[in-house]
Amino acid sequence: MRHPALTSRLQPFTSTIFAEITELARRTGAVNLGQGFPDTDGPAGMLQRAQQAIGDGVNQYPPGAGEPELRAAISEHRGDRYGIEHAPEDEILVTVGATEALTASMLALVEPGDEVVLIEPYYDSYPVAVAMAGGVRRTVPLRLGDSGRFELDVPALRAAVGPRTRAVVVNTPHNPTGTVLTDGELGAIAEVCREHDLIAITDEVYEHLTFDGRPHNPLATLPGMAERTLSLSSSGKSFSATGWKIGWVCGPAELVAAVRAAKQFMSFVGGAPFQPAVAHALRAELDWVEQLRKNLQGKRDLLAEGLSQAGFRVLPSEGTYFVCADVRPLGFQDGAQLCRELPERVGVAAIPVQVFCDTPDDTRHLVRFAFCKRDQVLHDAVERLSGLQRG
Ligand SMILES: *Cc1c(COP(=O)(O)O)cnc(C)c1O
Repeated sequence: MRHPALTSRLQPFTSTIFAEITELARRTGAVNLGQGFPDTDGPAGMLQRAQQAIGDGVNQYPPGAGEPELRAAISEHRGDRYGIEHAPEDEILVTVGATEALTASMLALVEPGDEVVLIEPYYDSYPVAVAMAGGVRRTVPLRLGDSGRFELDVPALRAAVGPRTRAVVVNTPHNPTGTVLTDGELGAIAEVCREHDLIAITDEVYEHLTFDGRPHNPLATLPGMAERTLSLSSSGKSFSATGWKIGWVCGPAELVAAVRAAKQFMSFVGGAPFQPAVAHALRAELDWVEQLRKNLQGKRDLLAEGLSQAGFRVLPSEGTYFVCADVRPLGFQDGAQLCRELPERVGVAAIPVQVFCDTPDDTRHLVRFAFCKRDQVLHDAVERLSGLQRG
């Protein structure tokens, strides 16, 4: 779609197939496995805390850096889980979701013309945030290896870094592929960051949602990385509250202060009554999160099995809400074409992976399905998908 009033720097981002597929799903009554949000609520104790906070009058501007109670809980969580120390006073900033944390980081740290390295497929807001800051993105692929797993192309990462490179954005567990970067891959990224004095911006919103016993290892724990890494996360995915938009950024005081300076004039603050509720969740609901993780692993298996029965070649999902599948065994070459036909043919909606890429050729045959849905919804989707080969 053309937006005549929109600036040239944002024009490249106006045609979203997300909107097209969502509308198609709505019109056809399809089971929507396109968008990644859960269809059940987060922990009851957390929801009660938010209701109580509203009743108790926690409805005005919280402090600019976020409620002290939440910053303390984030600090304890990072310390207990990963052994990383962040001072709640000046090394943690609460944001309007991880999305604002990312955009504010770009606006704070990237000069016009600076380069930012993204790993593709990338989360859809990253290139937009780089463009808003006037930066230039360089992309490095995750490539399907012989193992059937997506692997970071380390030589391409080295080749993408130049004298104007300011930052690298690293998302693990990774949306849309479901890849959890290995220690070797994280080590290679850290080496490049140290050698070229780059800032790493890590998107860890799926930090709790890894499968088959895989750990999540924050990049900031690697040697020489704590002083150059901004670690982003959010309550949305961990506590099934994607509409609350309570996120945070942790890192060295100097970098966090810069992000805060930008964030101050974006939203200033947000979500006052949700902040104590998320503090409670980080301290008292991690057993609930562990149950969520187990449930999601079962849902992944349910959907992967169904997709495979339906004729897709299913790729491994090591974490997140998502599993990707190759459409070629079904006689398709282009995932986008299948995604446009799927709602009308069988009543299921999914997203083609190529929309998350600058160079879509490597992923043209892949489609992303979300499994963060009630089992009944997944069974229904699987049942519908089984009609694909007959139709
Ligand atoms: C969902 C998602 C986000 C958005 O997080 P919010 O806290 O809702 O802003 C960011 N990054 C990735 C990879 C996501 O999947």
